[in-house]
Amino acid sequence: MQTQGQVRSANLAAALACLRDGGPRSRARLATDTGLTKATVSSLVTELVERGLVAEGAVHRPGSVGRPGTLVGLAGGVCGIGVEVNVDYLAVLALDLAGQVRWESRTALDVPGLRPVEVLARASALVSEARANQAAAAVGVTVAVPGGVQGSVVRTAPNLPGWVGTDVAAGLAGLGLPVTVGNDADLSALAEVSAGPHAGVPDLVYLTGEVGVGGGVVTGGQLLRGSTGLGGEVGHLALTPGDAPCGCGRRGCWETVVGLGALLRAAADPDDPLRDPGRDLEDRLGEVVARARAGDARTLEALAGIGTGLGVGAAVLVALFDPAVVVLGGYFAVVGEFLLDPLRAALAARVEDADRVALSTLGFTAAVRGGAHVALQPVFDNPTIVPLEASA
Ligand SMILES: [Zn+2]
Repeated sequence: MQTQGQVRSANLAAALACLRDGGPRSRARLATDTGLTKATVSSLVTELVERGLVAEGAVHRPGSVGRPGTLVGLAGGVCGIGVEVNVDYLAVLALDLAGQVRWESRTALDVPGLRPVEVLARASALVSEARANQAAAAVGVTVAVPGGVQGSVVRTAPNLPGWVGTDVAAGLAGLGLPVTVGNDADLSALAEVSAGPHAGVPDLVYLTGEVGVGGGVVTGGQLLRGSTGLGGEVGHLALTPGDAPCGCGRRGCWETVVGLGALLRAAADPDDPLRDPGRDLEDRLGEVVARARAGDARTLEALAGIGTGLGVGAAVLVALFDPAVVVLGGYFAVVGEFLLDPLRAALAARVEDADRVALSTLGFTAAVRGGAHVALQPVFDNPTIVPLEASA
C-alpha cells in the first residue's frame, strides 16, 4: 500500500506530465484531465509553483466574457543539461522544463588527440559555465557519446577507441549532479520524438551524420536498445560493396560510404581547406553547400554518391522497422537539399513509400537536446526531488 507521501508525489507527477503532454490549461481542466479533485489540484499547483516547476499566468481568451482565465503551465525553474562528446567537437545545452534552451555552446576539439580525462575536464568546465550563465537550477547531466555504453562506461567506440572502458560519470563527478550516459544517436532519436515536427511519433529511425554514422530506433514509442545496448548501431553494417578501411578496423562498413570522411574525400583533395579538421565543421559544410549551389561538378557528384548510399541503407532500415519517418541529422541535414533526390530514388527502387524521409530541424544539437530531456526525466518521475523554491 502506498504511503500518503507516495500518493502525493504520484499526483504531482501526474499533474506535471499532463502539462507537459497537453500544454497549459486551467486548474479546473487539470482536475478533469487528471481525475483529481479541484481542491487537490489547487494544492498540487501551489506546491509545483513553489518548486519552480510550474507558473500561473492570466490569459485572456478572445470572445470570452468575465475575468480572464488563469492558465497553469510548465515553468523554467529547473533545467537538464545535455553534453555531447564527439570525434571533433564538444557541445553543451541547457534546456529548462518549459522546453526553452537556456544556454548552448559547441567547441571544435580534436577529441582523439586528448586523453578522456582531459576532455571530461573541459566538458565539466562548459557545464559549469552553462550553470553560471542562466538562472534555472540544473537537476542532472546526460552525456552523449558516439558508441555503446553500459551504465556510465563506454563499451564500444569505433571512432574514439581510447574511450573504451572510460567511466564518463566518474569523470564529471566534480559537478555534484547526477550524470547519465547514452549513445548519441539514441539520444538524438529521443530529442526528435520529444519536441518539434516528429513529437510523439511512435516509430522513427534517426541517422546521425558525423565522422561516424549511428542510428537511433524508436519503435512502438520505445527506444530500441537490444541485449547489449547497441541496437540500431547501423554505421558498421556491411551494406555496400567497397573495401575502404573503417574506424572500427573492418572494411566496407556503411559509414565508409556515407560518413563525413567519405563526403570530404570525394569532394576535395587532401590539401583543400575543406579537409582541414581544425576548421569549424559548420564553416566547412557551408563551403560544401556553396560549391554545390554554384554547380561545382565534383561537389555535386560527391553529394549524389552520399545520397544514393544513404538510400541503400535506409531501405534496409525501412524494411526492418517500418518507421513512419527516417530523420537525417548531423551533417546530412546541413547538406540535405542535395541528398534527398538521389536518396529517394535509391529508396524507391527497394521499398514502398520512399517519401518517409525528413531532414532534422535540430542540426547538430539533437544529441544534446535529447540528453537534456533525459536529464530532466527524473523531475517528471518524482517532482519532489526539486527542493521547494528552487527558482528563488
Ligand atoms: Zn566499421
